[in-house]
Amino acid sequence: MIDEVVNDERLTHLKSIADVVREIPRSDEEMIGLVRDADAIISGDSPLTGQILENTKSLKIIARVGVGYDNVDLDAATRRHIIVTNVPGALSDSVAEHTILLMLAVARRLVVGDRSVREGRWTDYFQHAPSFELNGKTLGLIGLGAIGGAVAQRAKAFNMKVLAYDPYVDEHRVTKIGCHRVELDRLLRESDVVSIHSPLTTETKKLIGEPELNLMKKSAILINTARGTVVDESSLIEALKKGTIAGAGMDVLTQEPPRQDNPILTLENVTLTPHCGAFALEALRRLWFACSDAVLRVLSGELPRPPANIVNPDVIQLLD
Ligand code: NAD
Repeated sequence: MIDEVVNDERLTHLKSIADVVREIPRSDEEMIGLVRDADAIISGDSPLTGQILENTKSLKIIARVGVGYDNVDLDAATRRHIIVTNVPGALSDSVAEHTILLMLAVARRLVVGDRSVREGRWTDYFQHAPSFELNGKTLGLIGLGAIGGAVAQRAKAFNMKVLAYDPYVDEHRVTKIGCHRVELDRLLRESDVVSIHSPLTTETKKLIGEPELNLMKKSAILINTARGTVVDESSLIEALKKGTIAGAGMDVLTQEPPRQDNPILTLENVTLTPHCGAFALEALRRLWFACSDAVLRVLSGELPRPPANIVNPDVIQLLD
């Protein structure tokens, strides 16, 4: 995490009880060297495999920076009595705002407009079809968890009708958020904006491919701030080229960063951002507070309560 976020009294406290090392290992070997004698890890996306965890001597906690923890071998961590925590919800507002940003950017062709002004082609923007308002349009959310819910809340302020497809969320949440639960096919057929907020699982991998894109309106746009591989990227590129759908806004791609010859980079009807939906100061501070708190609780002994959001709760009964 950036200095502006971590240089605070929490870091001072951590430094008073431990040697603090900040590094991003580039290989499993480097990771093993780094964590062999560590008591705590505040972890980004780098893999913490069973083999790496087997090589640690005194590791007590892995505090995962973010909600997903698929980079951590949870069984191996529990076996070795290592607590693993995550930070659910800390990024939701930030990613929800970014989702709305992408919706507006694609609907209003922001990037095309910006480029035409900078390049001295003021009137170019008006040679294409007009942009469209979100007002009165239908938004289809795939996934109604923390981020999906936060997007729904904001979309209603734009006077959008909100549909949601989420097989796992209960009726109470759907009612509380004030949207309509529908099956995926109906959502794709009826939405003007489809926005993805499900996790990447075996079920959601390439959930949106050619058949699904064919169900969407020609005028519709697709937004993905979840995980790149929830969308079959080559089918999306074809759909955008052929005009099967009107546009896309993507914060995530199948390969990040993309190869420079990825055809998606050449499409005018796509707005791209570098997986930065959560990269806002407030969200980073929430992550740092939660992760440093979890580590301090475990290492200092001054905080008798166990850390919040333990994702392998079975570990607690294994601890002394
Ligand atoms: P969450 O766990 O709160 O919500 C996910 C929702 O998806 C849940 O309600 C779940 O029931 C639903 N879901 C699961 N399987 C589904 C399926 N097959 N079809 C439809 N819905 C399904 O997670 P969240 O915090 O809202 O995160 C949502 C996504 O955003 C995740 O993919 C996460 O990795 C991603 N994310 C991206 C960024 C970014 O910077 N762009 C930052 C944080 C999170």
